[in-house]
Amino acid sequence: MTRLLLLADVHANLPALDAVLASLDERVDLVLSAGDQVGLGPWPEEVLDRLDALGATCVLGNHDAECISGRSIVQNPQGIALTWTREVLPPERRSALASLPERQDGEGWTLVHGSLRGPLWEFLLDRPTAGACFDLFEGRLGVHGHTHLQGGFILKDGAISPMEPRKEPIPLLPGARYLVNPGSVGAPRDGDPRAGYAVVDLERGWLRFGRVPYAVEEAVRALRRAGLPPALGERLREGR
Ligand code: ZN
Repeated sequence: MTRLLLLADVHANLPALDAVLASLDERVDLVLSAGDQVGLGPWPEEVLDRLDALGATCVLGNHDAECISGRSIVQNPQGIALTWTREVLPPERRSALASLPERQDGEGWTLVHGSLRGPLWEFLLDRPTAGACFDLFEGRLGVHGHTHLQGGFILKDGAISPMEPRKEPIPLLPGARYLVNPGSVGAPRDGDPRAGYAVVDLERGWLRFGRVPYAVEEAVRALRRAGLPPALGERLREGR
């Protein structure tokens, strides 16, 4: 289990997930999904089926939690999509989502949605937050999502530095530890509508960030067919 495909914030966007899977030219041993598997997009059940078929290790995201909690949700486009998701998911799917843990630990890695300190809601965007999070897991790699932005932090010799998402493989430095956000598969927010992901090889010691185009208009049409707010489609087109 040394080569990992890192996914986050798929948000029920099936063509985006499938584009990522089709673009991989390397074998991966394990798929990690850092939460918000559903919410926003029009294919919640299909995305959960696909992640199941991949044997993906998933954690609970705030959208997953909200769409199963049963409490009433603000009626903005996101809230409308959450209510719709709750209504279309079969009961067994909702209970499977509800049983997802907020954190999973594996060989050399730990997986959460927001941050190690606040797994559901905290945005991990700055060095102080990264510093607090490095103290809360043991392995070489912490994986998270929630911000919908690719990047990460490196801890080496007691110093934390940010890691920019480059297309070329980034060597993992001996003795260094990493926090990695693979970016959002299904709802990027950095102005680039392409699906984001990352691949890391813990044995050979490299990490690569990826972006891949997908059929955004297919997602826009499916949102319209589902009667979901057009604003959600506009955000996909703009990557915002
Ligand atoms: Zn999200």
